[in-house]
Formats: sequence, C-alpha cells, structure tokens
Amino acid sequence: MSLPLCTTELGRDWIDGGTLCRFRCNPPGPIGCDADAEAAPMDGDTPNRKPASRGANPPPVTQTSRSTVKKEASAGVDIDVAVEVVADVVADATVSAGTAVTSFQNGVRFVTPATEWVNRDGKKIVSKLTSPFSLKGIISVQTRYGRGAMAHQPSAYGRGTTDEDTKVGNTTLGFHESCHRADFLAYLAANLLPTFEGKAGKTTDEYERSVKALKTRLNDYFAEMEKQSDSNTDEVGYKKSEFEKFGPTH
Ligand SMILES: [Zn+2]
Repeated sequence: MSLPLCTTELGRDWIDGGTLCRFRCNPPGPIGCDADAEAAPMDGDTPNRKPASRGANPPPVTQTSRSTVKKEASAGVDIDVAVEVVADVVADATVSAGTAVTSFQNGVRFVTPATEWVNRDGKKIVSKLTSPFSLKGIISVQTRYGRGAMAHQPSAYGRGTTDEDTKVGNTTLGFHESCHRADFLAYLAANLLPTFEGKAGKTTDEYERSVKALKTRLNDYFAEMEKQSDSNTDEVGYKKSEFEKFGPTH
C-alpha cells in the first residue's frame, strides 16, 4: 500500500517581508521628509554613481553573485539550493518613498518521498521510501530603493551610524543595505538547512508529523535569517527602534 506523494508548495511570497531602511534627511528634517524634494532627476545613473556626502565613502557597488547553499544527490536525497544576489532596483514603486528594502525572495520548495506501508500489530508502519527527498530552489537577495531614496544618502540608523562606521566614513544608506546582503549570505553559510526526518520504520502518523515539522523548521530557519539581520544591521549604533521612537536626532 502506498501513501500519497506529499508535495509541499510554499507560497510565492513566503518570507519576503524584508527590512525597511530609512535614510537620514540632510539637513535633518522631520521623519518622513518629502521624498520628492530629496529625489534627484533620474538620468539613467545608478544610485551608486551619485556623489557621496562629504566625508563619506561612496556606497559599495552591489556585486551580483550566485553560490551554492547545499547540493547533494544520492538515492535518498536530491538537494540543490542556491543563493543569488541580484542587481538593485531604483525608484521602485512597490517600496515606500524615501526608504530602501533589502529582502530575499525564497524559491525553495520541497517534495517528500513517496512511501509504502504495511500493517504491523495494528499499526500502519512506513516500510519503504520509493522516491528521493527533494529540496530545490533559489533564494534571491535584492536591494530596492523607493522613490527619493538613494544609495549615497546617509543611513538613518543601524550600520552606518556606529562609532566604527562613522570613524571610517561608512555612513551611507547603500553601505547599510550592503550589510543586510552580507548578513543573509553569512547566515546561509553558517547555518545548515533543516533536514527531513521521515524514514522507514516510523508509523504513518509519525511520518506525516515529520513532513509538517520540516515545513515549520524551514519557515523558522528563514524567519531567523531575517531576525539576525535586524539585530546585526538595524539594532546597532543609533538603533532602528530608537529612530522609530525619537526620530533622526543626530
Ligand atoms: Zn536596515
């Protein structure tokens, strides 16, 4: 007897909240300064080519890249997960004016093995996995700038405002966003993707619970990726939480 093949499709927008970052109005202004007043004419230049604020290093140019997170192929598993950094988008109408967002679009999907089961002592026991566990897809990391937000502008909080960043002149919004991208790549390199624990010998109920558990652990894994970037890049120096309470006080 066989159980239905369990394909788990995760939603298209699965973990794409991203982290919304603000620039500091220069000269200092109220929160949510007029994005139009800050916007420079779009003449085809990328934001990275705009002149940096005086004393600040120009924002780093975004390097597109692709690397393997995990690749494994055997009789039991078929895993191929990669991460890409894609080019920035400027004047993105889907991003709030005057802000930038660095997020990851998660294209990772899994398919759990098809199984056969037998009745043993009144219990349904998984006797055989008849197809491999598959985990595949691409995690795309991207920085998008809303209207009026540009890489050369000073970051309002977090990285770009720490003593060390200020000392060496890494104070731009573009630098801040580059830290989020680096956070995501570092997290994927340092943290192993969750594995599927379903195997022959488990009851069919236990097996089904392993499928649900994997989905939860994958969601938690990527939620943590976002959370760690918030702590590393937004909640340091002049913290984002302070900015949201007190505004641009420096
Ligand atoms: Zn940020």
